[in-house]
Amino acid sequence: MKKEEIKKLAENKDLISGIYNYCDRWCERCAFTSRCMNFAMSRKYTDDPEASDITNEKFWQNLSEIFKVTRDMLEESAEELGIDLDAIDFEETSREEGINDKIVQNHECCRAAKKYYEMVDEFFESEYKPSLHVVDKSDEKNAPELQKIDNPDGPGSRDEMVEIIYWYHHFIYVKLMRSVRGILGNASEMLEDFPKDSDGSAKVALIAIDRSMAAWGHMHNYFAGHRDQILSIIMHLDRLRRRVEKIFPEARNFIRPGFDEPPNKG
Ligand code: SF4
Repeated sequence: MKKEEIKKLAENKDLISGIYNYCDRWCERCAFTSRCMNFAMSRKYTDDPEASDITNEKFWQNLSEIFKVTRDMLEESAEELGIDLDAIDFEETSREEGINDKIVQNHECCRAAKKYYEMVDEFFESEYKPSLHVVDKSDEKNAPELQKIDNPDGPGSRDEMVEIIYWYHHFIYVKLMRSVRGILGNASEMLEDFPKDSDGSAKVALIAIDRSMAAWGHMHNYFAGHRDQILSIIMHLDRLRRRVEKIFPEARNFIRPGFDEPPNKG
């Protein structure tokens, strides 16, 4: 994709500026694909099987092209803003980043989120993976692990619940890392009248937690013999949810571009 194409895309008024910053990256299930620059750019490559195959030379050519475009745009912006890119003190910056990384990783929310994804992996990997893979879906009633309760008005299928849990289990950690990093003295976070990126990231993490909790709630129907383990996972998530809401009290009020705005706006 050429620089001109990217610039043209960026000028498209139908696209919602920054919508991809506070989404869950689940493009397959997103109602805003036609209004997202990130999706438009990624589709350019995914529509071409060779360009999205990491073992194909075209994939690496495209990556190199994107690098050149990014570098050119960075240099142009730096020149416009009068920033000397050579003036960065890499030693000092990487030292500070190293310290910040440790603080972020040790923050209670990040530790709890990490523990959550480990719990999820353990739940599926060690005990249930065999049953998830070998069970013939048309014969679920005969699978010992899958004691599904009949409920015609109930949630989606077991696979959908598992998909939701898997999609968000690492995502929550990543988003909370970003939120916590934001409150560690990021200059843009100090501006009172501006929405804070830390709140936006925390909001997306909270939405992911809510959805994961709901999915785990429905998992009772499919893993009736393991309700205690499922309950302890839900309790862990609930504690995490409460802590995030306490540390980021404005997160739920954050207006995400597109998702939280009236349909006629943007
Ligand atoms: S806003 Fe929607 S289409 Fe764009 S990256 Fe996020 S999930 Fe994908």
